[in-house]
Amino acid sequence: MPIYEYTCKQCNHVHDAVRSVDNRDSPIECPECASMDSIKNVTGAMGAVDTKLTPDKATGGQYSQLMDKMKRGTPKAYHESLDRSSNRNGSIWGNN
Ligand SMILES: [Zn+2]
Repeated sequence: MPIYEYTCKQCNHVHDAVRSVDNRDSPIECPECASMDSIKNVTGAMGAVDTKLTPDKATGGQYSQLMDKMKRGTPKAYHESLDRSSNRNGSIWGNN
C-alpha cells in the first residue's frame, strides 16, 4: 500500500501512514495530539505532484524562499543557474 503524509491541523505535526487508496482521505489520528483533524499532504515522494505545477505552487512558495536563501550564500556567478532551475517547470525561460 502507498504511504501518505499528513499534517495535523491542530499541532502541525507531520506524520506518515501506510493506507489503502480507498482510505487515504478518511480521518487519521495525529500521533502527537490525537486529533482526527489532519490534511493529506501532496508530496513528491510518491510521484504524485502535478508536473504542471511550478515548484512554488507545489511548495506553497517555499521554493522561492529556499532559492533566496541559496542565493544569499552563493556567489553571484551562480545566480543565473539558480534562476534557470527555478523556472524549469514554470514560465518559459528567456521570455522576460
Ligand atoms: Zn496533532
